[in-house]
Amino acid sequence: MTLATLIDGKSIAADLSRRTAAAAEDLRKSLGRAPGLAAIFVGGDPASALYVRNKDRAAAAAGLLPSTRHLPADIAENDLLAEIERLNRDEGTDGILVQLPLPPHIDRETVINAIDPEKDVDGLHPLNVGRLWSGQKGLVPATPQGCLRLLRAVHDDLSGLEAVVLGRSNLVGKPAAALLLAADCTVTTAHSKSEGAKEICRRADILVVAVGRPRLVGADWIKPGASVIDVGINRIVSPEGQRQILGDVDHSPARAVAGAITPVPGGVGPMTIACLIANTIIAACRRSGLPDPRF
Ligand code: NAP
Repeated sequence: MTLATLIDGKSIAADLSRRTAAAAEDLRKSLGRAPGLAAIFVGGDPASALYVRNKDRAAAAAGLLPSTRHLPADIAENDLLAEIERLNRDEGTDGILVQLPLPPHIDRETVINAIDPEKDVDGLHPLNVGRLWSGQKGLVPATPQGCLRLLRAVHDDLSGLEAVVLGRSNLVGKPAAALLLAADCTVTTAHSKSEGAKEICRRADILVVAVGRPRLVGADWIKPGASVIDVGINRIVSPEGQRQILGDVDHSPARAVAGAITPVPGGVGPMTIACLIANTIIAACRRSGLPDPRF
């Protein structure tokens, strides 16, 4: 039996990080300062805290100036908006992200809409969403951007391929569909209300799964030879009491059917922070009137 090629997100992300670090150094020389990436973290969600720590570490290693403002879970929405406005006006801040999820008393849309679109390195502001769907230059969410970079590692050309995205979140599923469409794939989006999701997925040459259900997608959901990008990160405790991170795809059986597949961990995960850093450098270049770097 031939097993699918493993798409190695760690090494592809490391390669991107080398190139972003070189671009950050060039930028530091021309701006006289390091590009600044500011995060706002409200409350203390442990998974978010880990992500924010890893992001700050990676940003510093890439030569960026990271800063994270920790705000209490009971902060008033207006005080959070004032903090965003301060960062919008700060010359040394090129990228702003507000760590999600937010506490329930804060309106997520109001907060996202308050971020300067030119500093919106998560690509969630409606202006950047519109730019993505209309083919204009904007800032593209890091995780789906990472998915496309992984696919390009195994496909010279995605044009004309049948792509299915399982999941339709604003953070992953919808922008992944937009990027695949922009790459000239024929794109279907399926979700929790889709009839026959398994059959829809089995049509796909390219299958991107972003659902948050451990091992939902079995080998019988996959077209032989397809490229499978597993975005899912599901933290579970096994019956033996061991902590595990599982994807949304049942990896071992799927690998026997697919042509190429990402592992979890070590697939999409490492790409997200690398692409976020790339976005910060792109934002810094555009704000300074410099051409976009080519990563
Ligand atoms: P989300 O906002 O919860 O969206 C999940 C999507 O999956 C929704 O569109 C939902 O459909 C759909 N869905 C749920 N159950 C389904 C089912 N049984 N069949 C078909 N579709 C189903 O999640 P997300 O933010 O997109 O994240 C998805 C996964 O990716 C999570 O495991 C998350 O941890 C992971 N993730 C990883 C990274 C990374 O860096 N690797 C980054 C972000 C997210 P409806 O819209 O109909 O509810």
